[in-house]
Amino acid sequence: MIGSGRGVGKQDLMRHLIAGNWKMNGTGQSLAEIEAIAAGTALVSFASEILICPPFTLVARAAALAKGRIAIGAQDCHPGRTGAFTGDISAEMLADAGATAVIVGHSERRRYHGETDALVAAKARAAWRAGLLAIICIGETDAQRQAGEAHRVISDQLAASVPPNAEGSTTAIAYEPIWAIGTGRTPSPSEIEETHARIRHHLVCPGERIRILYGGSVNPVNAQAILGLPTVDGALIGGASLRAGDFLAIAAACDPS
Ligand code: PEP
Repeated sequence: MIGSGRGVGKQDLMRHLIAGNWKMNGTGQSLAEIEAIAAGTALVSFASEILICPPFTLVARAAALAKGRIAIGAQDCHPGRTGAFTGDISAEMLADAGATAVIVGHSERRRYHGETDALVAAKARAAWRAGLLAIICIGETDAQRQAGEAHRVISDQLAASVPPNAEGSTTAIAYEPIWAIGTGRTPSPSEIEETHARIRHHLVCPGERIRILYGGSVNPVNAQAILGLPTVDGALIGGASLRAGDFLAIAAACDPS
């Protein structure tokens, strides 16, 4: 099961992680999609681990509904435990609501909320403190890619956003080229391979292998080509995670045929 406090086993870490990021989408009605995903994964024994990260308002209800059939996570957390931080949510509160994972450093948080690498690292440590899996997002903009700076940007983000003692039971990395998010564009398989291999090279961790997810316009059509790459350990999925059918089709792409 996802989340360090809940005992991620060696076997779990070998499995792909298919994570959905609902962003600022979903009301009570959308819980029907969570039920459909949970029911779908119970029917088919997927080779991958399934996680949905709805907005904060749905985390507790989604976790109650999922009943452990799939994992439920959140999209952000504050680095502190408690305090005078109006509107913020701590990792401990998320764990209390039934979350077992949290996305930190998504490019939309970095862009619209000015989140720095140091803040992202603090949020990852907060996730660990609460026993949550931290999914740390990194990725370059189109301008950085065009300028040939993508590798440097990714190295810098890894160095400053991933705390030094990260390991597979507590952390996953989501490589999300910003130009691929919500655009229908993706890097070529060989570009994904090359970048993931570089990320792996940076992640020197003594414990379990850290999973490296790809994110950016994954859909049922391209899922197999991306998830079948040897360096890809799963996916972080935005738009296509809002529809149970699409999300389940992506998860199915990890299964041996
Ligand atoms: C995301 O926002 O994390 C994401 C990958 O979005 P999309 O799948 O819609 O590109």
